Amino acid sequence: MATRIWNFNPGPATLPLPVLEKIKEEIPDYGGTGMAVMELSHRSKPYAAIHAETKNLLVQLLGIPENFSILFLQGGASLQFAMVPMNLLGNGKSADYVITGAWSKKALKEAKILGSAKVAGSSEDTNFNRIPEQSELTLDPDTVYVHITSNNTIAGTQWMTFPDTGDIPIVSDMSSDILSRQLDFSRFGLIYAGAQKNLGPSGVTVVIIRNDLAEQSREDIPTLLRYATHVDKDSLFNTPPTFAIYIVKLVLEWMKDQGGLEAVEKINQEKGKLLYNTIDVHNEFYRGTVEPDSRSLMNATFRLPTEELEGKFIAEGLESGFGGLKGHRSVGGIRVSMYNAMPLEGIKALTDFMVNFVKNNG
Ligand SMILES: *Cc1c(COP(=O)(O)O)cnc(C)c1O
Repeated sequence: MATRIWNFNPGPATLPLPVLEKIKEEIPDYGGTGMAVMELSHRSKPYAAIHAETKNLLVQLLGIPENFSILFLQGGASLQFAMVPMNLLGNGKSADYVITGAWSKKALKEAKILGSAKVAGSSEDTNFNRIPEQSELTLDPDTVYVHITSNNTIAGTQWMTFPDTGDIPIVSDMSSDILSRQLDFSRFGLIYAGAQKNLGPSGVTVVIIRNDLAEQSREDIPTLLRYATHVDKDSLFNTPPTFAIYIVKLVLEWMKDQGGLEAVEKINQEKGKLLYNTIDVHNEFYRGTVEPDSRSLMNATFRLPTEELEGKFIAEGLESGFGGLKGHRSVGGIRVSMYNAMPLEGIKALTDFMVNFVKNNG
């Protein structure tokens, strides 16, 4: 048996052990082909089956309606920051951005380079410790889309209910919470997510785009950067990241084995409850950095009484088999990233450690 730690890395992040074992098992000879998946032609039948089944599983698990296309792209969520405005803006069109953290700011920056973009709301004045209320948003009636970051990986906040934008489609960066909860697709025009948090390894970015928006892709941009190209060619315009897509497929199969999205969402809620409850019960020692109704179920951020104790927590945590707990420098303290692949058992072990740590240091 491999020695595995409880890996709380924010991304790339932990993957389910059964997925890793399946990869290992299938590497030398994928499905009787005598080749590894990464040696297969992306035009071959066995790869075509992987490609189709990965999309099929996403449709099944997320309930993606027929008027959406699923794309497997490269360049990470960061390229989507640029591709979204590059395709959908121009000709004096403008988009609204709600700024809830470092990633939203990066998305806004690209939109401003490529078109006109307005800040429709922001929580920067309180160091992104909350999601703005609907009443704080100023939406431009002519905006093409409203961009949000559904889960703020660094700040530790998450949109619990999505903003009411009327008929205007929401474009959401869901890199760190896609497939963690059920979604109402009637609200969204485009969803994108780098795979390396909740879906698989780095190297593939999943884009789920409403077909009428893809059809509006500008024509005066490079072919590879047009959504319409990838919709038309089923993400096979050029060589897709075949091995990463195959691992996404294995992760989705694992999710199905867990009971699907509803079951995984429930486990995520239990994990969040257990962790935040531990913080709240020991609130003289652990101090959550975000407002309780904005707390993320994917990335929990908290401080200890001193930076010295935070260093000790991280060091002793590592000795006890818990990795990746150091918070982002903009927030400090501790960040517990608990994506789908982190089992409830891992959070139980960590919260036991947290309680003991208070006993010994509080
Ligand atoms: C990690 C992350 C990104 C950056 O993703 P890349 O794939 O590295 O470009 C963007 N947005 C959010 C919310 C993230 O968590």
